[in-house]
Amino acid sequence: MKLLQQRILKDGHLKEGNILKVDSFLNHQMDIKLLNEIGKEFKRLFSDHSITKILTIETSGIGIAAIAAQHFDDIPVVFAKKVKSKNLDGELFTSKAQSFTKGIVYDIQVAKKFLTADDHVLIIDDFLAKGQALLGLIDIVQQSQANLVGCGIVIEKGFQNGGQIIRQKGIRLESLAIIDSIENNQIVFG
Ligand code: 5GP
Repeated sequence: MKLLQQRILKDGHLKEGNILKVDSFLNHQMDIKLLNEIGKEFKRLFSDHSITKILTIETSGIGIAAIAAQHFDDIPVVFAKKVKSKNLDGELFTSKAQSFTKGIVYDIQVAKKFLTADDHVLIIDDFLAKGQALLGLIDIVQQSQANLVGCGIVIEKGFQNGGQIIRQKGIRLESLAIIDSIENNQIVFG
């Protein structure tokens, strides 16, 4: 997605440890017009499927998924929670995901009542690095016996192995921008 690539080049900042900061437009301050274009593109890419639910993970995925959902046919967004709270009642699907940016392992959870075997699920997230967040979400979809339609990622870091792991599982993965390398402080798209 050209618009997204241009914005990454203009406003993205590279940090130590293969981290790309896009907090001025994607996951802290959010450019809603851009998120709207991102949502439109996810809809275009997955228009061959009838999707009943979008699943994401807190925190950064929520805004992206919520705006994307408006381009689909009146479907809810469910987000996996990383912190067990007293408000999270009833039975839960749980899995684990190691945070790429924080290095800690989260228990992630979704209430069973929000994901059922009748659902056709699109997973959406902001970044794909080593695939841990997606694998946790995929595990939860599989536990629920819902149909996993595929995964939509805004920025895939193609030089890390997450994309390969997911695609090797035969799961449809659509990334709107794939970064091939960030050598010498230079972002190169695939
Ligand atoms: P993974 O689980 O694929 O290793 O990493 C994906 C998760 O880590 C995403 O949900 C995202 O929040 C975070 N993440 C991974 N790489 C980056 C990055 O380069 N920049 C930012 N801002 N977040 C990242």
